[in-house]
Amino acid sequence: MIRVRDDLRALEGYHSAQVDVRVRLNTNESPEPPPPAFRDAVAAEVSRIDWHRYPDRAATELREAIAEAHGVDPAQVFAANGSNEVLQTVLLAYAGPGRTVATFEPTYQMHAQIARVTGATVVEGERAADFTLDPEEVIRVIETFQPDVVFLTSPNNPTGLVEPADRVRQLLEIAPGLVVVDEAYAQFADWSALDLVSEDRPLVVTRTFSKTWSMAGARLGYLIGPSWLVAELEKVVLPYHLDAFKQVAGRLALRFSDEMDDRVQQVVSERDRITTTLADMPVDVFPSGANFVLFRPTQGIERLSGHAVWQGLIDRSVLVRDCSSWPRLENCLRVTVGTPAENSEFLDALQIVLEGGEAGQPSNEIVGSEVAADGENS
Ligand code: PMP
Repeated sequence: MIRVRDDLRALEGYHSAQVDVRVRLNTNESPEPPPPAFRDAVAAEVSRIDWHRYPDRAATELREAIAEAHGVDPAQVFAANGSNEVLQTVLLAYAGPGRTVATFEPTYQMHAQIARVTGATVVEGERAADFTLDPEEVIRVIETFQPDVVFLTSPNNPTGLVEPADRVRQLLEIAPGLVVVDEAYAQFADWSALDLVSEDRPLVVTRTFSKTWSMAGARLGYLIGPSWLVAELEKVVLPYHLDAFKQVAGRLALRFSDEMDDRVQQVVSERDRITTTLADMPVDVFPSGANFVLFRPTQGIERLSGHAVWQGLIDRSVLVRDCSSWPRLENCLRVTVGTPAENSEFLDALQIVLEGGEAGQPSNEIVGSEVAADGENS
């Protein structure tokens, strides 16, 4: 019998519960498809792809378009199949056996997961009960462990909190290694660490086309960082990893930035409506700078557990992310901002569940093991 690597045996795979519902607000995607003009432009260009040839290995035009959008040099752009693959490439190059990667929990679980898969040791700093990050904790983690790579996620997933600029600057001053700021949701927030990227600073900022650009189906992400670091990543990533179709789709998407900005505005205003409405319900709401909101049913005599509320929503055909059994997130649920109609449906269903205690009825549509396997990779 062949055996998997010893250090992988303890790791669990990551999946999302597949539940058949009407309103799907659990994976932080864009609620709208890309604009019709984008589809037309892609269709026109795709018909000209040389399918018998390997794609442009350097993804030159795509990188130029991303660089132009951010006012940086194309040599400072590294693109890959989703920001998850960007993160994996960074960790293959800068983590690995004998190296240490630091996270501040709770945060996006794939940071620790990918780091472990590369063979690195993961050290977990702790956030405060309100999920903010104490500067003293940053100092403790850095001084104690001297990590080779440190992650911050801003806005953080699943909490939604935007990391203050001072925290990123503090980290840059004291970190001995690479600082990665994961900005999968930055367009929904009011500041970005992109301005801090420079050739003489070991900082990368990662972005994705999966949210703002309505392109989760295409799997495209990138980072902006020093060109010498991008050159190292190019050595690590597989040749021709970005297919020709994706290069076209990503490049064309960037032409629709006005439409995408409008959608971001709509999501932000709906997020604020959800937050305000939740504030009048018996739940704790965490301030979000992202396209989702974390909340927790509050204690009361007739209190429902987070999981019971989640089940109550499922019974009303609304799916949110059940974080209630994840470490440090007891009873928490996370709702992705959907269309205005979907958000209203969610809010109405939640009101009824919280008032009526209708939750907790096992639904036919979901089985226990699927619930338990509701890991976080989105
Ligand atoms: N970073 C964060 C914080 C995320 O929440 C996600 C996905 N939800 C990703 C990265 C990965 O995004 P993708 O691979 O789709 O670009």
